Amino acid sequence: MSVTRTSSNVKCGSCGVFTENSDYCKNCGALISHKKIQELKAEKIKQEFIEEAKYELENPGVAKRLMQHPFFLYKIIGWILHSVFLVVSAIGAFLGWFIAW
Ligand SMILES: [Zn+2]
Repeated sequence: MSVTRTSSNVKCGSCGVFTENSDYCKNCGALISHKKIQELKAEKIKQEFIEEAKYELENPGVAKRLMQHPFFLYKIIGWILHSVFLVVSAIGAFLGWFIAW
């Protein structure tokens, strides 16, 4: 990544004051660097994507986590989820085996 900055005067979107060679407004402190704003946006999107991927990865373990929950109602839900998952995968395995024949 290059650090060269060609734009010198950037107008603040909040207060309208021009600031030279800075990512932030000298008057109100608002972020005025378009590049920086884009970077932050990209970073936020990336972060959201990672969070989502993490959630997706942890999701199969939800039943297991619920089963270990101290509150019995959550435990029951965990067991139900667990058995549903087992039944579904058993049916899937059986169907796969059946179709293969
Ligand atoms: Zn400003």
